[in-house]
Amino acid sequence: MSLFSSPAVVLRRRDFGDFDLILTLYARSEGKITVIAKSAKKSTRRFPGVLELFSVIHAVLRKGRRGAMPVLQEASLLKAHPIIRTDFKKTAYASYWAEIVDEWSEEGSAQPEMYHLLDHVLKGLDQGWAMDESLSLLFQIRFLRLSGMHPNLTHCRVCKAALEDLPGARVYFDLAKGAPVCHKCRSSRVKPYLLPKGLLKQLQWMAEADLDAARRIRWTGDALETASLFVEAFISHHVGKRFRSLKVLKQLCR
Ligand SMILES: [Zn+2]
Repeated sequence: MSLFSSPAVVLRRRDFGDFDLILTLYARSEGKITVIAKSAKKSTRRFPGVLELFSVIHAVLRKGRRGAMPVLQEASLLKAHPIIRTDFKKTAYASYWAEIVDEWSEEGSAQPEMYHLLDHVLKGLDQGWAMDESLSLLFQIRFLRLSGMHPNLTHCRVCKAALEDLPGARVYFDLAKGAPVCHKCRSSRVKPYLLPKGLLKQLQWMAEADLDAARRIRWTGDALETASLFVEAFISHHVGKRFRSLKVLKQLCR
């Protein structure tokens, strides 16, 4: 048996029997990890109201035999994020981000930068650093980069021509191949999906800049909506899932 501890975000929680909880955590040192919190619904002494969704906790875990679910021994609260949990729309955004990370991550594959990103945007959402939509875009485009699924936003995937050298203000984007195609290289079989070149440039910057600088980027309402629809469609296509929480979010924002 071994003990370890790490800061972790609570991604999911579900009841297990009458007294226990099963939690999916995203831990800085472990990545995604599913754990059991025994008697969590009964014992407020061991887990005094800290195991709420989207909280950041300091988790002390005990790993048992191979294949056995780790047991949460102790947890203390690092960040409660109370605003997220009392605002429907913010809850929906956080649920969407948590669902993406949960769906994409493999158990036990640590990625401290992904932890840092999730921690950063949850804090921003709770404290209202930027528009929720803009923070969501920031999360998604940086998630794509960290997960290795980042779209090509700079040049035609066939002839490699840079977007700024192509005529016109908009360019075709091939969602399946994850890259723009210029008008000369586009095959008629590719579904025409036109995007402003300036928008792709702004997204590229948002993906690469320092995180604090990237969240200060200002989007006009139309550009934010177009960019959000594009990135949401991209993630859904490349993770291979329609996200339930995104559907809820869209209904709330209507
Ligand atoms: Zn081309």
